[in-house]
Amino acid sequence: MVRKKMAVPVERVPVNVFKVFLASLTAFLILWFVPLLLGKYTDVTYPYIARKDIIYELVGLIGDAGKGIRWCPPISPYIEETVHLIDVEFDSLIEEELVKKYKIQPGGSWKPQECLSRYQVTIVVPYRNRSQQLRQFLTYMHPYLIRQQLDYRIVVVEQSNVTTFNRAKLFNIGFVESLKMATVDCFVFHDVDLLPQNDMNIYACTHHPRHMYSALDKFRYHLPYRNLFGGAIAVQRVHFSAVNGFANRYYGWGGEDDDFYSRIERKGLTIIRFDPQVALYVMLPHQSLPPSEDRFLHLNEGVSKSDDGLATLSYQLIEKKVLPLYTLILVSC
Ligand code: UDP
Ligand code: MN
Repeated sequence: MVRKKMAVPVERVPVNVFKVFLASLTAFLILWFVPLLLGKYTDVTYPYIARKDIIYELVGLIGDAGKGIRWCPPISPYIEETVHLIDVEFDSLIEEELVKKYKIQPGGSWKPQECLSRYQVTIVVPYRNRSQQLRQFLTYMHPYLIRQQLDYRIVVVEQSNVTTFNRAKLFNIGFVESLKMATVDCFVFHDVDLLPQNDMNIYACTHHPRHMYSALDKFRYHLPYRNLFGGAIAVQRVHFSAVNGFANRYYGWGGEDDDFYSRIERKGLTIIRFDPQVALYVMLPHQSLPPSEDRFLHLNEGVSKSDDGLATLSYQLIEKKVLPLYTLILVSC
């Protein structure tokens, strides 16, 4: 009898293990996975500049620089009011056709001939091994920027070395090298795979640093988190210098944009966004890069390491080339 009684708990052990496993799995799903999913798809509300007020936020050249100067209007008459629907499979135009059709100047620069543009900007694009996306970007962006009557140049900073990609460093290099060519007061730091859908998202600087792609198709046109400051941003030269640019130490995917945001905050600057109906973007499809493992480590160090940036930037300039649709800065970094 005693032996029989003793055998009962031994037989029930496998059932308990299974239950514990099920309970752990449920707890895991509830505590980690579900909030993650919800977080990803929750609409974060944020303050933004209404469409009608955008004009007051733009920093442009003002006054009349000498007699006979005809300024372009603050908002270009060529802006199309419709939201551009973008088929991500669209074909890129042939270089010569684009240059001829839009009279793009060597180095990928342009300015209106009939009036003096109020907005001068350099668009810096970090790049490596995405030739199809770069062609699509140039095909789409030149006419887009031309419709806005900007005085602009597209600068592509290419990392030639095959070691881990460093987006932040390429932005710093683009900033420094562009200023060697000409003094420009406004910079847009822009991924190659992002295309703006609304012409009112004017590629000029605003009084405050601006997060330009707050409504992205990939995020169902919702902002995933309030402090997101990646993808495409417009920053005045003085602000970029004041925060010492991006940190150079973020090799691989992630972290550098959050670090940049915290630099801006620490300088007492605030960021702005335009109306979500204006800040609409499409991202050309690509495989996601695995996040870098040490990005959180760097972020935690951020406060003490903000001396890492423009002041400590080192790289090897391999080539600077004036190409028909863009200025290429080829570097090893
Ligand atoms: N990039 C690139 N080649 C690469 C990785 C990144 O040209 O191999 C550039 C490109 O401009 C890209 C940006 O860095 O848009 C950000 O990388 P990615 O698009 O992979 O980041 P995510 O879309 O995941 O934010
Ligand atoms: Mn991307």
